[in-house]
Amino acid sequence: MPGRLEGKVAVVTGSGSGIGQAIAERLAAEGANLVIDYRNHVEQAQGTQQKIAAAGGKSILVQADVSVIADGQNLIEQAWQQLGSCDILVNNAGVEKAADFIDVTEADYDTVLDVNLKGAFFLTQAFVRKLVAAKKPGRIINISSVHEDMVFPHFSTYCASKGGIRMLMRDLAVELGPLGITVNNIAPGAINTPINTSLLENKPKLDALLANIPLGRLGKPEEVAGVAAFLASEDGAYVTGSTYFIDGGLIRNYHEQ
Ligand code: NAP
Repeated sequence: MPGRLEGKVAVVTGSGSGIGQAIAERLAAEGANLVIDYRNHVEQAQGTQQKIAAAGGKSILVQADVSVIADGQNLIEQAWQQLGSCDILVNNAGVEKAADFIDVTEADYDTVLDVNLKGAFFLTQAFVRKLVAAKKPGRIINISSVHEDMVFPHFSTYCASKGGIRMLMRDLAVELGPLGITVNNIAPGAINTPINTSLLENKPKLDALLANIPLGRLGKPEEVAGVAAFLASEDGAYVTGSTYFIDGGLIRNYHEQ
């Protein structure tokens, strides 16, 4: 049976590791040709490419720091030039910085907001401009976070960025719907990836978190990737303007005292 994404081209930002890598592999397994984006670690991106090739998939590597607008434009341009289209954009690249609110510096703020919000904003703009010129439909999937909705004290920059992505998604779903472009968010809870290395090494903190997760474990990147594949495919054709929480029930948790 042909994959659900046969003939499609997908860009996944930050796809050298973690959730982005799992999404790139899954979309390729469903038949899409992949643009693997990386910022610093070409060897990690090559690892994603090797896994895709081993499974019979096709991909290209493009270096792009999404916080640099020209890099993002080139990323989309490379998809069209080298693979002939760009139908699916997954805004996955993200960073976080812990700091008490009173200590947040302008540099911290810019680092987080420039990647998580401004980068996704202008990359999406570049993606949509090309679709409009080609008169094609498309899919936009943002990897936000439970913290698009749920508080995270000492991570105010992260919350501001992910909350911004929530409203951007809702706004664009309405503005771009008439163009046949869907826009949705995936909001992971605690997923076992390198972004959580310090948490995974701190057993008391990890145990406290696990006690708040009804399913009692961290999520796997592959579990996020499955929902991304659904949203990118025809199965998700009528879904737009929604956030899918993949968090083991974390955001709905309630404890009796
Ligand atoms: P990760 O393993 O640290 O991956 C983040 C990726 O983003 C890295 O490959 C990194 O590449 C890339 N990246 C960072 N800044 C970039 C930039 N300016 N341009 C291009 N790529 C950039 O973390 P992850 O957990 O998979 O996170 C992926 C997304 O999921 C993020 O948006 C994160 O906020 C979100 N999320 C994760 C969790 C979780 O529990 N893991 C929960 C909620 C939301 P370099 O290494 O080259 O910098």
